[in-house]
Amino acid sequence: MARRKIVVAMMMHETNTFSPVPTPLASFRPLSGHAAIEEFRDTNTQIGGFLDVAKEANAEVVVPLAGGAHPSGYVEKAAYEDMCDAIVGAIRNGCDAAFLALHGAMVAEHFDDGEGELLRRIRAVAPRLPIALGLDFHSHMTAPMVEHATVVAGYRTYPHVDMAETGQRAGRTLLRALDGLVQPVMVWGSRPMMTSTLVHAPSRQPMKDIMDMAIAAEASGAVLNASVFGGFPHADIPHTSLSAVIVCDRNAEPGRALLDRLLGMAWDRRDAFLYSGAPLASQIAHARTLGDGPIVLVDHGDNTASGGTQDVMSVIEETMRQGLEDVAAGPICDPEAVKRIVEAGTAASVTLPLGGRIDMPQINLAGKPLTVTGRVTRITDGEFVVTGPMATGTRSRSAAASRSTWACSPTAASTRAASGTSSSSRASTFAPASSRSPGTSCSATATAAPAPTCGSSPTGTGASPFILSKPEPGQFGGRFYAILASGMASAF
Ligand SMILES: [Zn+2]
Repeated sequence: MARRKIVVAMMMHETNTFSPVPTPLASFRPLSGHAAIEEFRDTNTQIGGFLDVAKEANAEVVVPLAGGAHPSGYVEKAAYEDMCDAIVGAIRNGCDAAFLALHGAMVAEHFDDGEGELLRRIRAVAPRLPIALGLDFHSHMTAPMVEHATVVAGYRTYPHVDMAETGQRAGRTLLRALDGLVQPVMVWGSRPMMTSTLVHAPSRQPMKDIMDMAIAAEASGAVLNASVFGGFPHADIPHTSLSAVIVCDRNAEPGRALLDRLLGMAWDRRDAFLYSGAPLASQIAHARTLGDGPIVLVDHGDNTASGGTQDVMSVIEETMRQGLEDVAAGPICDPEAVKRIVEAGTAASVTLPLGGRIDMPQINLAGKPLTVTGRVTRITDGEFVVTGPMATGTRSRSAAASRSTWACSPTAASTRAASGTSSSSRASTFAPASSRSPGTSCSATATAAPAPTCGSSPTGTGASPFILSKPEPGQFGGRFYAILASGMASAF
């Protein structure tokens, strides 16, 4: 049998339509061909998983695009068109199958359903091409996405530690179809729910029972693949929802029954998918009571993967105001501050306004810098290879110029600025771009549980945006460390 030719592509973005951060093509750091394969081979990413499966099948692989951007605002029209043209063009040239690593929450300036539109264009040039589609747990499912794909599979973890596995699940089902062993048919459905990212992790209730049911059905062989998607609530688009997709062999009936059970259970539990926040000051105070660390404070809207500006200083300001020690915070995206720190050099003492550079007109919020004084402890080029369980093996190139580690202390001005922050209306001013609910911008979590962060981008996501590792008490010498970056960054 002749070698199969498989087009493998990645086009991933989780679009926060409330974010003021633009998303041009450069944000995707697009690669293709050999460079893309070298970058993602043997990494814990969807495309890494797809490459594994293609290798197992001894297939010829064509990679027209491997691009992924940090969550941010609308994907610029030109970027979207360029990326689609690359993928559609490669498929038009002829292939036996396509493996597509997408996110499922891409919103372009001119299309609400970025993935559905891409698939529609592919189908226009390849009506019968077998297509395996891998998606993030935070997908918004749409009819075009399902109708134009052959197999769909999504992450089953959050934080997403099963990226490569997801690509493998989708890819292997498609290969079985190519071999004539199965005939995939898909059913899908959704419920009009905007589940909070802070409470919908599949490892915990209320989602755990639902995802476990899907996993069990797939593991038993009752269906080929079963995926549940929590959705991404920070997008003002019509199809935001909780959804599920079931891939069946020939007969869709088992899938429909499973789909009804999954979505029925989710709908019945809809109240539990809401997050009840508390004012920031009280949550920081609560964190103080949790005892030995590490303790994770997640500014879930401004974390490194929800599309915030990554320079909102509210949580850091309040943490300083309450005098917490042994703190590592960041990464904070502030090119101007990094420039000043680099000029000052290692060991220099610097006082400057930090963060708060970017206004957020979509939520009527002005940027608010925090004036701090600190000593520069390290300046690096910002490149590193992710060694944690999520996106393992990927190389972060998130800071184009440099990244600084900076031990700093609050000034009197910053201490005064943060006083009296306890009402919910005040708390709403802490809410970064992707968080519109008052009083929910920060959560304090005992460290036994993973931080509820989302990283759609494969270029440097870690398990926690705030804790470097498991520091021993006193490791930071009672000081407050801030990690600054000259560009958007997802991990440190
Ligand atoms: Zn996600």
